[in-house]
Amino acid sequence: MTERSPAPWACQPAHSRGRRWAEPEDLHRHAFQRDRDRIVHCTAFRRLVYKTQVFVNHEGDLFRTRLTHTLEVAQLARSVARRLRLDEDLVEAISLAHDLGHAPFGHAGQEALQACMRAHGGFEHNLQSLRIVDHLERRYLSFDGLNLAFETREGILKHCSGANARELTIREPGGVAARFLGGGQPSLEAQVVNLADAMAYNAHDIDDGLRAGLLQSTTMTELPLLGRLHGQVLAEHPALEAGSRRTMTEVLRRLLASMVDDLVQATSDALQEMAPRSADEVRASPAIARHGERMQAELRELSGFLFTHLYRHPQVVDSTARGRQAITELFQAYADDPSALPADFPPDAQPLRRATDYIAGMTDRFALREHRRLTGRALFAIDP
Ligand code: MG
Repeated sequence: MTERSPAPWACQPAHSRGRRWAEPEDLHRHAFQRDRDRIVHCTAFRRLVYKTQVFVNHEGDLFRTRLTHTLEVAQLARSVARRLRLDEDLVEAISLAHDLGHAPFGHAGQEALQACMRAHGGFEHNLQSLRIVDHLERRYLSFDGLNLAFETREGILKHCSGANARELTIREPGGVAARFLGGGQPSLEAQVVNLADAMAYNAHDIDDGLRAGLLQSTTMTELPLLGRLHGQVLAEHPALEAGSRRTMTEVLRRLLASMVDDLVQATSDALQEMAPRSADEVRASPAIARHGERMQAELRELSGFLFTHLYRHPQVVDSTARGRQAITELFQAYADDPSALPADFPPDAQPLRRATDYIAGMTDRFALREHRRLTGRALFAIDP
């Protein structure tokens, strides 16, 4: 395999729109490599290991956590980026930071914080990821946050409400939130990470769901996409048992490979047709990274299936409901007594935002410990 030069549609570190605070260039690493390294060393990144993806962290040692999910996203996104001649370091930086702002206890934690903050500016995990890298990390002497390059921050802010985009754009005219007001897309690197996120969780949530016994291989292989791959595996390896763990592992391996191949193919076709000559032309075009139509339909069906049979499974709903309760009661405790927050936690003009920042940054087990300290009650039978 040969090194390939970046494509005209790739983001180029030498043409970066720069950092919010000017810094001297690093002698050995370009801007996006430096961003990736800053993310790997930040505190919020280490916390991902104890944050729930779907299964509450202490329910089993082999389920995905936010950290292993994040690493799988980075792996898939880099594979795609290499084949599309995108900037792999930028793709890796965006991937590693994409879930930093997730609250403890997965979607239940996020919904709890959204409900608590509804009347006070809301809570969005993408915006929270940006707040972490822009403000909340305190590691450098000359600035708050990690002072990442525009392109990395643009990729981190995947969604943003109109109200938040207006507020961000007042502080940073023409900045990373402007596209949510004026239309337009992020870089192709960011588009690829968004799709890699979905490819990663579609595959690993099946794996975790099967491992937990909440999904059955016989039902999963009734989905046309998985049924087709399962059929191929059995035809090539007649000695394998239908639906066994080994067989399903091979089915999931092939699922990842087919999603990656399909994404590269459909995106290459779109690039050929739209022929952007620069990263800025990518931003001004409709979304370019995509799956083919058949894969899109099959992935929609798979997501719908996982939503009903896994994310809304009574066992998942029950354990995450206790996480939701922990978050809601923690929020109430800090709202009643802001002095319960650590004195050295970064201040905010809005005390409820400060409490939200603190709670969102917690790991699952720290949230449970803090909840027990403040309320005197334990929500899970097991001591995390
Ligand atoms: Mg994710």
